[in-house]
Amino acid sequence: MKREGVIRSRSPQIPSMTDTMSPKERSRRMGLVRSVDTKPEMALRRLVHGMGYRYRLHCGDLPGKPDLVFRSRDAVIFVHGCFWHRHEGCPLTRLPKTRVDFWTAKLEGNRKRDIREIAELKKAGWRVFVVWECELKNLEALAKRLRRFLDRRKTNEVR
Ligand SMILES: [Zn+2]
Repeated sequence: MKREGVIRSRSPQIPSMTDTMSPKERSRRMGLVRSVDTKPEMALRRLVHGMGYRYRLHCGDLPGKPDLVFRSRDAVIFVHGCFWHRHEGCPLTRLPKTRVDFWTAKLEGNRKRDIREIAELKKAGWRVFVVWECELKNLEALAKRLRRFLDRRKTNEVR
């Protein structure tokens, strides 16, 4: 499990939070970060692997370091935490009640970066699929969509 922390370099910028929080709040938040960041990714990996697909993890040479990379299919998959990546219309995106400006700016920055990175990937010929954390609650439905996406090669369509 130790590897998880290392490869997830896109995870939220913890240092900027640490200097303004009490130790208690900090550890609470970091627990939160781990749970929204790592678990969905592991669940997705298990699902995709169980479906018979093979992939590489976090290719550092690609924009945004996609979580799963399927080179022979020109396909990449991101797993996005709903809070950190602003899943539109999703209840998990609710902002903390304090420091709203701080969070709004930080999260909007994340969202813009996602858009930019996905555009770069598509420009380079990759097909991109984003799995939202909340979609992992219904693995059957997600598996169907993933299969459609992964089996369809060489198109520009996204989702
Ligand atoms: Zn969501």
